[in-house]
Amino acid sequence: MARFNTQLVHGVPVNDNNTGAVNPPIYNSSTYTFGSVDAMPRWDYARSGNPTREFLESQIAQLEHGERGFAFASGLAAIHAVLSIFKPGDRIVVGKDIYGGTYSQLHEHFSRWGLIVDGVDTQDPVAVSRALSNPDAKAVYFETLTNPLLKVNDVRSLSALAHAHGAIAIVDNTFVTPYLQQPLDLGADVVLHSATKYLAGHSDVVAGLVVVRDADLASRIYFVQNRLGAVLAPAECDSVRKGIQTLALRMDRQQENALKVARYLKRHPLVSAVHYPGLESDPGHALASRELNGAGGVLSFEVRDDVDAGTVLNSFKVFRLAVSLGAVESLAEFPARMTHFELPREERLKIGITDGLIRLAVGIEDSADLLEDLEQALHAAGEESNDRAAQATVNATATATALAGIGALS
Ligand SMILES: *Cc1c(COP(=O)(O)O)cnc(C)c1O
Repeated sequence: MARFNTQLVHGVPVNDNNTGAVNPPIYNSSTYTFGSVDAMPRWDYARSGNPTREFLESQIAQLEHGERGFAFASGLAAIHAVLSIFKPGDRIVVGKDIYGGTYSQLHEHFSRWGLIVDGVDTQDPVAVSRALSNPDAKAVYFETLTNPLLKVNDVRSLSALAHAHGAIAIVDNTFVTPYLQQPLDLGADVVLHSATKYLAGHSDVVAGLVVVRDADLASRIYFVQNRLGAVLAPAECDSVRKGIQTLALRMDRQQENALKVARYLKRHPLVSAVHYPGLESDPGHALASRELNGAGGVLSFEVRDDVDAGTVLNSFKVFRLAVSLGAVESLAEFPARMTHFELPREERLKIGITDGLIRLAVGIEDSADLLEDLEQALHAAGEESNDRAAQATVNATATATALAGIGALS
């Protein structure tokens, strides 16, 4: 039983106390009895491990083709645990366009803690190689698809570069999931997720997952998981477990809808750019076609300079105005003010997050409803822009008339 869709549903066998239950139970127990003082049980205390968490950890390890999986209380807790295996003075080469919360954790927490954070453009192998040639460089950290511009990072070549310099490759696979790519198979050493997004898939749980390639990394991450203690509670582990079972079904629809939305936006006169590697015209399309089994359900687009992105966002009726992504419902957000406000404006503009950029996380609704919603929201913003232009003409005429009057008097 090696195929992916079957693994999603049945990958980890359910054998519980001969009840015949098809789902694993949620063990709500913080502690477990010892048979006798010298008989250490399989689980003794729930932070160190428990059967409900172990089920999810086995599930994700299997799907990501790794040695071992770990579940955390959030994606950022997972990232915190991974970066905590390093020591002060170690350098981490980090993609410049990473998730805002990760950027802030690195720059406002880990740099104070002593990690040296070296931001590079992970689309530029020469820059990455130069950064990794510093003898203190211990890892390269990047996202498979960048957020919110959906650039495709080359896991295979970035991992090879890291290894050539004695460093490891850490990949945030949140936007892609193991359904579309298994980074460990392409050479990465650690893969992590905000399971809050596609894996759980219903905007009802905050969770993080990590999978590692080998036993040495597993023991280092396990130490941090148990000692820093940001573990995922059993009920949440079960939510993510259930979400994972429908991952492929949901993503198939999300990708299908996202491609329709991207094609629609590409032709819209008020839209100046669309970023989605599923479009043949996208710079990441060739790499995505080679290394990914699909382009995912997130895309972003820019409206023309004279159109107010805020008006587009405020006019949506089906798309909900919210951060996050990967769930059944379609969401729209304004990176400059919502997800990427942690980045200073200058940094933000440098990496292409303009004031006209809108990110869409496409859900599983009927695509016709999504396209109609985009149509009416863009129409509203277009009307407003026309009104503004007309008002500017009226004002200019009034000013000219007034000036002419002053001229006539003097
Ligand atoms: C949401 C997200 C995170 C953070 O995860 P939380 O579960 O919100 O803590 C990290 N990386 C990416 C790419 C994300 O989208």
